[in-house]
Amino acid sequence: MALPRSVDVLKEIATEYGVCIRPLAMRRTDLDTGLTEVIDLPCGATREDKCPPCAKKNRRLRQAQIREGWHRDDEPLPGPKPATEAQKSLNLFRAHLEFSRDEAVRAAQWDQVADLDEAIREVEEAIAAEGLRGRVGPPHGSVDDDQDEEPGRRRKRSTKRRQDAPELPRRKIERRTVGKTYTAADGTTYRPSMWLTLTLDSYGPARPGGTPINPDRYDYRRAAWDAVHFPRLLDRFWQNLRRCEGWNVQYAGCVEPQRRLAPHAHFAIRGTIPRDVLRTVAAATYHQVWWPSVDVQRYTLDRPPVWDEQAAAWVDPDTREPLTTWTEALDAIDDDPDAEPVHVVRFGAQVDARGVMPGTEDAERAIRYVTKYITKHTGDVHKVATDRQRAHLDRLWQQLRITPCTDRCPNWLLYGLQPKKAHAKLKPGRCKGKVHQRDTLGIGGRRILISRDWSGKTLADHKHDVRAWVRALLGVTTDGMQPVDGQGATAERVRHAWELARPDDPDVGPMTHRLMRSISERARWRAELLAAKDRAAQGSPDLSATQHNGQHMGEERH
Ligand SMILES: [Zn+2]
Ligand SMILES: [Zn+2]
Repeated sequence: MALPRSVDVLKEIATEYGVCIRPLAMRRTDLDTGLTEVIDLPCGATREDKCPPCAKKNRRLRQAQIREGWHRDDEPLPGPKPATEAQKSLNLFRAHLEFSRDEAVRAAQWDQVADLDEAIREVEEAIAAEGLRGRVGPPHGSVDDDQDEEPGRRRKRSTKRRQDAPELPRRKIERRTVGKTYTAADGTTYRPSMWLTLTLDSYGPARPGGTPINPDRYDYRRAAWDAVHFPRLLDRFWQNLRRCEGWNVQYAGCVEPQRRLAPHAHFAIRGTIPRDVLRTVAAATYHQVWWPSVDVQRYTLDRPPVWDEQAAAWVDPDTREPLTTWTEALDAIDDDPDAEPVHVVRFGAQVDARGVMPGTEDAERAIRYVTKYITKHTGDVHKVATDRQRAHLDRLWQQLRITPCTDRCPNWLLYGLQPKKAHAKLKPGRCKGKVHQRDTLGIGGRRILISRDWSGKTLADHKHDVRAWVRALLGVTTDGMQPVDGQGATAERVRHAWELARPDDPDVGPMTHRLMRSISERARWRAELLAAKDRAAQGSPDLSATQHNGQHMGEERH
């Protein structure tokens, strides 16, 4: 039993060589010859516990993206290139999945819908890996809480500023995204940038290890709601800052938990902004949540409301009275002239901002800092070492379990309300929403936040850059994932159809074989790459310009 399992050893070697350990098999059919071939695409996981090589590669790409955008001095306005055949056929396949999903929804085959959603996610990753920018379509099941049940009818909400929020100056926003350049007396020019940290308010006095001094008086409810709505607050901050500064300020940053487990955010900002402006905007920024009241928890997880098949509604377990519907609850808020938002999120007083000069070790350190934890789950960022920390994490999680995440969250039942689109299968306290999970600690949204005009490129573009660079070095000229057949490789484009292959399809083969093939390929490929680099170093100057990128982003190991 002490001997290691061979599949584990293979995975270890694969990890060492940067080969994906849970590849996604895609079947590619050559439409001219009818030949099919199964190609392993990397899974593209961003977390180490799923696939360390993919997570590491993703981190390197993010670092490259941040590095490239931070101190740039020209406006990023790239023109798109025409799509390749491979890209078109992947998009066609994506369209087929969309059609099937729609059919499944009509037939109420929910298990199939879930499968198809998973397939759609996978194909979209493949599309991204092919070097296309943006999503084909918005993800399904996205919830926009500003939209009401009846289309066309939009609710009026109070948007009047609260008394305690200072007014901000407003300027017309220029299209500029690049910061100012400063010239010193000797003619040297500087284009400094900024590093900014935004935190949330205090929920009660804490010890150095992040745990509350008095757990009973620590405001877990506010902590949970603040965490859930933190992404919206950040969005507002950037809107307000751009309006106040009058130019299209760009940022790249991350959301991570502090020791006390509340989210905070670090940002690299292109250009400089006076520190007091950043502080004023942070202090003035808030996000109001216009949901029904959660002051009274009317039901517990042990004794929740029950579904009444005949009434097609959730009812009180004792009186069988139907609970208030979502529409009724929102109507009540609209009709009440004194209604207050159920929650208002604001930043805490601690706003750290400092200047960073391009090309310095300080700038590199900041980039590493932004990407430091992205391969880990939020819940694993800080080691839980003491009983006190364990208890703190558990109390926060218990609170998150019963916090409503969206207007469709089953948790509304606990507060005597039927959520929007209520149905029989709701399970309060068991919502699958990301914010409720122990490994997210309320940080359910994107952890890396990069503004649209940061580098003028998406992550997929940066992936594409890496491939283009490697191909240039190896002299591969096709647009495929590997050099085409032995026929001498004219750059002729082949028409291909793609489909997802299932792991048990006869042409897919056992995972161990697939891993071995990929490892061998990668080993050969790495040797070739090293040799090509040596040749490049000895002569051809045209590659040296891009070599810098490659060293940081290339798929070789460090
Ligand atoms: Zn992978
Ligand atoms: Zn939920």
